[in-house]
Order: sequence, then structure tokens, then C-alpha cells
Amino acid sequence: MISAICPGSYDPVTNGHVDIIRRAASIFDRVVVGVVQNPQHKAPLFPVEERVEFLDSALAGLDNVVVDVFSELVVEFARRWGARTMVKGLRVISDFEWEFQMHHLNRKLAPEVETMYLMASPQYSFLSSRAVKEVASFGGNVDDLVPPAVARRFEELYPRPRPGAPVSPQE
Ligand code: ADP
Repeated sequence: MISAICPGSYDPVTNGHVDIIRRAASIFDRVVVGVVQNPQHKAPLFPVEERVEFLDSALAGLDNVVVDVFSELVVEFARRWGARTMVKGLRVISDFEWEFQMHHLNRKLAPEVETMYLMASPQYSFLSSRAVKEVASFGGNVDDLVPPAVARRFEELYPRPRPGAPVSPQE
């Protein structure tokens, strides 16, 4: 069985992530979605349990995909699952710079683990967890950008005014 991992913070999962995971699942026998417990560079909005729940519900139809949490080095996570490949999505040039650095660092740490990059689908190439959080927090509609469970949670966190409801500038 050939396994790959799809690591990330998934804070929260977006339709762009789901697209990459689906495409990876059509190539590999098994895909393990690795959710980093405590991202180093950013405090997550959603606790890890909730990030996992969102992924579980978004990926429910994919039989060869499992979701797991990790707090070790990503290459150690790959080794733990017996995966020789990490799959990552590449959106724009700015992703490339960071990914280039991480690729070589990870190859140094674990030469047997290869990273494979899938080009983001055009309709998701502008999409990031950070951007959807920002839009949702200002009351913007992100229903087409995230899986339904995430959209519902955003609606609870940041209720949107009903269409036609009077808006008072004082409120
Ligand atoms: P983000 O970069 O949005 O915070 P993560 O850290 O969870 O997301 O990233 C996990 C992986 O998913 C990374 O390889 C990232 O490049 C990829 N990814 C994130 N958003 C998209 C997207 N819209 N399309 C393709 N790949 C994406």
C-alpha cells in the first residue's frame, strides 16, 4: 500500500484543501491528512479537535483518507505512517519561496521522504484559511469557499445580517 500525507494547520479546512486531498486520494492508495496540533507561526482560531471534525465531515465520502493529529516534525509524522511522499498544494509564487525552503530542509532531515506539489485549481488559487477567516469575521459570505460544517460554524461565530433587515449606522 502506497501512502502519502497531506500536512497543514487546516484552521479551518477550505475547499482548496479538499480539492488537493481529493486529487491526492486519486493517486495514492491511502492519504493521511496531518493536522498540526500547535502551528508555530500562528495561534489557531479553532482548537485541534474542531479542525479535525471539520475535516472528517468534509472528507466523509473518501474511503482511503484518514485524518490524524501530529505535534512532531512533519517528516517524523510521515515516517510514523510509513509514507514516503508528502503532498502539498501550490497556489502562487509566494507559496513557492516558502515551499522551496521547507522542501530542502525536509530532504536534509529525511532524504527518503519526497514532497510532491499539486498546482492549485484555478477556482481555488486565491483561497487561504487566513483569507476566509478575515472575510467571515467582517460578516462576509464564505459559503462557496469552505465545506458546509465550516460555513455553519462561521455563521454562529459571526452572524450575518439577514437580507432586507434594517441596518442602523448606530449599531
Ligand atoms: P493555509 O496555507 O491556507 O494556512 P495550511 O497551512 O493548512 O493552509 O496548508 C496546508 C496545505 O494546503 C499547504 O500545502 C497549502 O499550500 C495547501 N493549500 C492551502 N490552501 C490551498 C488552496 N486554496 N489550493 C491549493 N492548496 C492549498
